[in-house]
Amino acid sequence: LTDRLSGVFRSLGGRVQLTEENIQEAMREVRLALLEADVNFKVVKDFTDTVKEKALGTLVMKGVSPAQQVIKVVNDELVHLLGGESTELKLQGQQPAVILMAGLQGSGKTTSSGKLALLLRKQKMKPYLVPADVYRPAAIEQLRTLAKQLDIPCFDSKADMKPADIVQNALMDAKEKQCTVVILDTAGRLHIDEPLMQELRTIKDIAKPQETLFVADAMTGQDAVTVADAFNQQIGITGVVLTKMDGDARGGAALSIKAVTGAPVKFVGMGEKLSEMEVFHPDRIAGRILGMGDVLTLLEKAQSTIEQEEAEALAKKMQKAKFDLEDFRTQMKRMRSMGSFESILKMIPGLGGIAKQLGEMKGHEKEIAKTEAIINSMTMKERRNPDIINPSRKVRIANGSGTKVQDVNQLLRQFDQMRKMMSGMLKGGKGKMPPMPNM
Ligand code: GDP
Ligand code: MG
Repeated sequence: LTDRLSGVFRSLGGRVQLTEENIQEAMREVRLALLEADVNFKVVKDFTDTVKEKALGTLVMKGVSPAQQVIKVVNDELVHLLGGESTELKLQGQQPAVILMAGLQGSGKTTSSGKLALLLRKQKMKPYLVPADVYRPAAIEQLRTLAKQLDIPCFDSKADMKPADIVQNALMDAKEKQCTVVILDTAGRLHIDEPLMQELRTIKDIAKPQETLFVADAMTGQDAVTVADAFNQQIGITGVVLTKMDGDARGGAALSIKAVTGAPVKFVGMGEKLSEMEVFHPDRIAGRILGMGDVLTLLEKAQSTIEQEEAEALAKKMQKAKFDLEDFRTQMKRMRSMGSFESILKMIPGLGGIAKQLGEMKGHEKEIAKTEAIINSMTMKERRNPDIINPSRKVRIANGSGTKVQDVNQLLRQFDQMRKMMSGMLKGGKGKMPPMPNM
């Protein structure tokens, strides 16, 4: 998919002028990208119509390549639809402030309640947790355990209490303990049903939450959108927590939910651990939905796993398609030690395919060792400029590394393929790389 989209942008980049036909063609691919990312059909149609209009309107701009124009329009519009700037919680008003967590069973309400408490405490608030799911025996205990782990006060709910009573008493207790924000973890069902909605309405009436966050499992795609719509109509939601974005969900649901309910995604769950929740950044998800990479996250990740300078140098090399066998070897070594290169590659526009290729290599220790041995037998000159490796050099390298000439050939072919992909993806129009604004 990424390849397909990148391909279109590349072909646009090669053209001098952007015709209506070109845009149409690009929009077909954008439409597919969105549908594959699980964006609602109607939302997709509105979106591509808008982009088409805007792309046509910006045709005459100087100093920008057509590909850059289309990409920018697509990206901007997506970020706009996702809510623009990241959307903060609105907790003004009554004290303590109240956040109601609602959603289907297993969507991640309890986990997200704990994560949110941790996040808010980091922002100097004093959170208080309330388990109000009295139906599943383990549910109360689950939140209580999380609270204990975080050392955050938690209401002592009993399974035989009514949720409404729990909430009422919890609010008083939170006030007494001078907490500043109460997080209500509610029950979920497998499907939407009237008793659940009634219960949530009752809780809402009592607690008057400033925020009602719908917790959506990103992996459920379109279903999440339907359910969000129902919750919004029945109880009204003010925001969304999109969980399990650490999986391969593209996050198209984020766009659809916002478009359908008007409620923006405010947080994103990135794993099972309590620290794995992030404030939602529309620009990052936009990149993810389009499969054009997530440059900001890339840079952040790079900072913690490799030295940033090195990451930038690498990105520059990739831009210029100067990535050589020596870099390949360095990265392969690194990958072996921490497996980070693959995840970094995945975030660079258009390089998903290469990441996959490398990913497939991972776990094939023997293959990697062989590849390393072959590269080790090359001179630095050969590594930096593999084109000079002629048949006699190949024989020498094969002998030196205890491999066969076929192996050397295979490696060179693979590498060449990779380099071609990189230069194709990243050079864009005139050697510029459109979708990477921060590099
Ligand atoms: P609830 O029924 O809505 O309260 O859902 P839970 O909070 O109990 O979560 C259900 C399952 O999803 C648990 O196994 C969680 O560990 C898992 N989970 C929740 N959020 C995330 C997330 O962001 N990423 C991943 N990978 N798992 C999550
Ligand atoms: Mg729960």
